Amino acid sequence: MDYESFFRSQIATLKQDGRYRFFADLARQAGNFPTATFRDGQGRERTVTVWCSNDYLGMGQHPTVLKAMHDALDEVGAGAGGTRNISGTNRYHVLLERELADLHGKDAALLFTSGYVSNDATLTTLGKILPNCVILSDALNHNSMITGIRNSGAEKHIFRHNDPKHLDELLSAIAPGRPKVVAFESVYSMDGDIAPIHDLCDVAEKHGAMTYLDEVHAVGMYGARGAGVAERDGAMDRLTIIEATLGKAFGVQGGYITGSAALIDCVRSFAAGFIFSTSLAPVLAAGALASIRHLKTSQTERERHQERAATLKRLFADAGLPVMPSVSHIVPLMVGDAHRCKRASDELLERHGIYVQPINYPTVPRGTERLRFTPTPLHGNAEMERLVEALLDVWSRLDLRLAA
Ligand code: PLP
Repeated sequence: MDYESFFRSQIATLKQDGRYRFFADLARQAGNFPTATFRDGQGRERTVTVWCSNDYLGMGQHPTVLKAMHDALDEVGAGAGGTRNISGTNRYHVLLERELADLHGKDAALLFTSGYVSNDATLTTLGKILPNCVILSDALNHNSMITGIRNSGAEKHIFRHNDPKHLDELLSAIAPGRPKVVAFESVYSMDGDIAPIHDLCDVAEKHGAMTYLDEVHAVGMYGARGAGVAERDGAMDRLTIIEATLGKAFGVQGGYITGSAALIDCVRSFAAGFIFSTSLAPVLAAGALASIRHLKTSQTERERHQERAATLKRLFADAGLPVMPSVSHIVPLMVGDAHRCKRASDELLERHGIYVQPINYPTVPRGTERLRFTPTPLHGNAEMERLVEALLDVWSRLDLRLAA
């Protein structure tokens, strides 16, 4: 086989489809979020405003988090030095797991190197160790959950997105004695909608199923202490497992699950993705710990974040831009074509110094390509007004569809 031409032809297809991913070379400026320095292919630099970061609250630049990380680096050095079992458990891991268990009102927590790994490793393990297990998965679940479910080899059923009635129908057709896991997210990050957690838990409970909730796009931002939508909705105790990331609103990196002592001990003891991997660098654990502790008591970031998201939605709607309905902090603008979405993103960057990445298939269905904005507490009114002007200019240049 001519391997090189095979690889080239795969990439050519992606380019033809408008789905080839270009990485923007960005240097974030500490203390100056959402500003970054963009370097183009010719090495030219310019200052840009980042509008699509998942550092939703700007905690990745927060002085308390930065200080905790500097201190930890000086105290314990760079890496963890091993897997958790072989010299890689640091004091910061232990403290962080306690903090996370407390945050979600569970007995215990377990850290992973990313949210992706936590979903993959945990669902793989559950599906493997629970005898004759069936996993029921929301139709819009993230790739990390889908991969975990697939890797587990367990029987899988997909219920219509956020549809407890369909979940009920599917569960009714499964033999009552079989172990069942219902897996879903709280905030769906591409559309910005939120799961009916209580309704899904009602159905799961009726059929004796475990519940697995991904709060990756909610922790830090929802609930009185930042534990997510389940906290906001008073549903935390109804969920068997709550999973999330340390890499988005907490501003650092890593993933975790929380649950009962026996369940966490089981995943710790059987999950290959946990056991056979060097543990999270202690400096990351220290930063995440500081961030979580700060957001447990401070409401400032959460309140300002919600206000900023509402303001941006209103400004888009007033300008006639096709803002998609969203009940969360995510603000998507529909373009509906992969090539034009990419061009809109390029023009915003080149002409206006605004960085927002196009979102294409397979992240969203074909024909629903979009620009996804994530206003943070650090995006001011002037930046928002500049963004709207820039969008109107690009919309008119590319003759894109305005709101109906
Ligand atoms: N779960 C969901 C719903 C996600 O959107 C993502 C990443 O975007 C992940 C899990 C993975 O988390 P991480 O980025 O920490 O690997």
